[in-house]
Amino acid sequence: MSRFAVRLRFHGDLSFFLRSKASAIQRQLSERTSVKDVIEACGVPHTEVDLILAEGQPVNFGHVIDAESTIDIFPLELRRITSFPENRLQVHNIRKFVADGHLGKLVRDLRLLGINVTCDRDAEDRQLVEVAACQDRALLTRDRRLLMHGAVKHGYYLRSQNPLEQTVEVLWRFDLSSVLAPFSRCLRCNGSLEPAAKDKVLGKLKPLTKIYYDQFRRCAGCGQVYWSGSHFEKLQKRIEAIRSLLGGA
Ligand SMILES: [Zn+2]
Repeated sequence: MSRFAVRLRFHGDLSFFLRSKASAIQRQLSERTSVKDVIEACGVPHTEVDLILAEGQPVNFGHVIDAESTIDIFPLELRRITSFPENRLQVHNIRKFVADGHLGKLVRDLRLLGINVTCDRDAEDRQLVEVAACQDRALLTRDRRLLMHGAVKHGYYLRSQNPLEQTVEVLWRFDLSSVLAPFSRCLRCNGSLEPAAKDKVLGKLKPLTKIYYDQFRRCAGCGQVYWSGSHFEKLQKRIEAIRSLLGGA
């Protein structure tokens, strides 16, 4: 097969992933190649791509390129989907996540807001991919190679290195602002919190807590007991900070 040129035009913020500043890239191919592989060879994980047009017509990731062509690649822009709404490649209503072990603060923030996110600090890459695939969770990571794994269907590459900004990114990307349920999930293990009678948790309380507090919640997973003590105010401030960034984003 003779060589042929493919011109790729990356739209929106997808240029974030490209090595050069130019948003158009020309590649020479010498064999039939899926459009997914060509896009990822440019550094853009498929989890970031919501629409692909080959010569102006929508195609999916499996589309094979075997001749000279022009490909347009678009990111997910939740609130601005006007063209080809039926041909979008990303699922929007994802509510479950798995985060890689480097994102501890993001995980804590999301759990604080009631978002279901598992995270094992010691998990290896292949375990993360397996959890994402088997439990249908979107993978949150700053490792784009991981997102390019064939078994990863949904995921997101955190742009910022700042945990607060990362939290807002995830809430935006997956349109989660309407499903937030602060203080409903365990910050340690992701379990659900349930109301617990004081006499059932007395053994876990310090003397002053026993005196000053009457309402408690307990994690159904690890048994951790929560109450609105001094740390509570800090957590509420954190939620306010997230909400105000979200509102202004
Ligand atoms: Zn727990």
